[in-house]
Amino acid sequence: MTKSRSRFSYPTRAAFLGTLFAVLLAAFPLARMSAAQDATPMAGQAGITSESWGESDGEDVTLYTLTNANGMEVKITNYGGIITSVVVPDRDGNMEDVTLGFTTLDEYLEGHPYFGNITGRYANRIARGTFDIDDEKFYLALNNGPNTLHGGEKGFDKQVWAAEEVSGEGEVGVKLSRVSPDMEEGYPGNLDVDVTYTLTDNDEIRIDYHATTDEPTHVNLTNHAYWNLAGEGSGSTDNHELTLMASNYTPVDENLIPTGEIAPVAGTPFDFTTPHPIGERVRDDFDQLVLGHGYDHNFVLDRESPDDTTLMVAARVVEPESGRTLEISTTEPGIQFYSGNFLDATEVGASGKMYRQGDGFALETQHYPNSPNEPGFPSTLLEPDEEFNSTTVYAFSVS
Ligand code: BGC
Repeated sequence: MTKSRSRFSYPTRAAFLGTLFAVLLAAFPLARMSAAQDATPMAGQAGITSESWGESDGEDVTLYTLTNANGMEVKITNYGGIITSVVVPDRDGNMEDVTLGFTTLDEYLEGHPYFGNITGRYANRIARGTFDIDDEKFYLALNNGPNTLHGGEKGFDKQVWAAEEVSGEGEVGVKLSRVSPDMEEGYPGNLDVDVTYTLTDNDEIRIDYHATTDEPTHVNLTNHAYWNLAGEGSGSTDNHELTLMASNYTPVDENLIPTGEIAPVAGTPFDFTTPHPIGERVRDDFDQLVLGHGYDHNFVLDRESPDDTTLMVAARVVEPESGRTLEISTTEPGIQFYSGNFLDATEVGASGKMYRQGDGFALETQHYPNSPNEPGFPSTLLEPDEEFNSTTVYAFSVS
C-alpha cells in the first residue's frame, strides 16, 4: 500500500486553502493589509516595520523595528544610525531592552553621550584635532577639550542617513548611507559611506561598514551602544563578567590620548583575559584607572599579525543573574572598553530611570585612538583606490 501525503487530492486541497485564505482575509483586515504590503509583518512576526519618527533639520526621520524568528527585536533609526532598543530574553524567557536609549527622537536631538549611534568619521579621539596627510595639515572641529572626539561637533551620529530595507534568508536588515562631504568637520575627501545593520535568526546583530573616498582621508567607524544585560535602567553593571581577548592595551595621558605605548595587561586591573566582574577592580588605585575615571581605554586584540582582519571574538559579557550573554566579534584591531564613567544622571532612559555612572558600558570595536598621529599604530588612512570594510557582530545568548 502506498502512503498518501494528504487526505485531499491537489485540486481539492488548493480550493480548500483558497477558501480558507479568503475567509481569513475577510475576518482580519490587518492581515489583508500586511499581505498587500508584503514586507510589513504583523506585530511580533519576523520582518521589518517602519514608522515616521519626526524630523531633524527638516529631514524626515524613520524608526525601523527588526524582528527575528525567535522574537528578538531591535529598533534602529536613520538619525545617527542609532540602535534605540535591543530586546532579548533571559534564561527564563523574560524579555528586556538591554541597550541604553530613549523612546523619542526629541530626546536624542537634545543631546546624549553617543547612545547606540554610528560614530565617525573618526571614532574616538584625535589629539589636538589635527593630522598631516602628504605634508598637508588638517584641522578638525575640537569638541573634547583640546581634542576631537567621535567625528567632531556634528559627526555621523547627528546626521540623517538615507535608508533602505534589506533582507536575506534568515535575516532582516537596514542599509544606511550618506556622502560625508569634503572638509565636513575638517576631514578631507568626499566619503561615500554605508552601514548595514542586520538581525539574524541566530540572535545576532551584524554591522557591516563600507566606505570609499576621492581623496586620502582618515576613517574609523564604530557603533557606540551602551549595554546593561540586566535591562537598561536596572542600575549598575558592576556585576557583569567581562572577558577581553586582549593581552595588551594602550595607556593614555590626562586627555585620554594614547601615549603610544602598547602595554601588557598582565598583573593589572586591565587583565580581562579571564572573566572578571567589571566592578571588581574599577575602583583600584591604579594610575590608568584614575586618569580614565574608570575604564576608558583601547584594548589591543590578540591577532596573529597587525594585518590580520579575520572576524575574531573580541569580547564576551555575562550577566550572572539573568544569564544574558553578549559576545562581540570584529574584524578591527582594537576595542574601547568604556565603563560609562561620565553617565551622570542627566539622562532618563526608556524605562523612566536615570542613568548613573556605570549603569551601562560600551565596547567599541575600532582602530586605536589617535592613529593618524601614531605611525606605530595600524593605519586608518583610506586612499581613493581603496575600500574601507569592517564588520562587527553582537551575538546574544543565555548561559
Ligand atoms: C569615550 C569616552 C566618552 C564617551 C562618551 C567613549 O567612547 O572613550 O571618553 O566620554 O565615549 O562620549
